[in-house]
Amino acid sequence: MTTDSDCLFCKIIKGEIPSDQVYSDEQVIVFKDINPKAPVHLLIVPREHIKSLNELEEKHDVLMAYIMRLLPKIAKEQGLNNGFRTVINTGPGGGQEVFHLHVHLLGGERLSGAGFVM
Ligand code: 5GP
Ligand code: ZN
Repeated sequence: MTTDSDCLFCKIIKGEIPSDQVYSDEQVIVFKDINPKAPVHLLIVPREHIKSLNELEEKHDVLMAYIMRLLPKIAKEQGLNNGFRTVINTGPGGGQEVFHLHVHLLGGERLSGAGFVM
């Protein structure tokens, strides 16, 4: 599996940097964002080092579908029974700061429909 020794999230995946992990399996790890923007703010991170949506290839289709179906399960585990928000920032123009693909999962308060918290 591709990893990048200079990548912050690869270091978290390898356990070189601590994180507050809430879920982990062969494909992904899920941990709390260090700077939460909502009462629940998790990052769903594939173990494979993929820089962003821009670098996705056909071989990642199953992984991405897996992540999409995992999101509501994680949300439910976190008690987000009334809904949640997912955000993927792509590239500097999209506000991406860590260049290892990840999905933000936010909830725990009523997020405004028109507003973007990220
Ligand atoms: P991006 O802007 O790339 O979509 O999101 C990166 C996220 O990673 C930010 O919300 C930021 O707070 C979070 N983050 C940055 N460094 C760390 C860290 O060392 N640990 C954790 N848990 N989150 C981090
Ligand atoms: Zn990485």
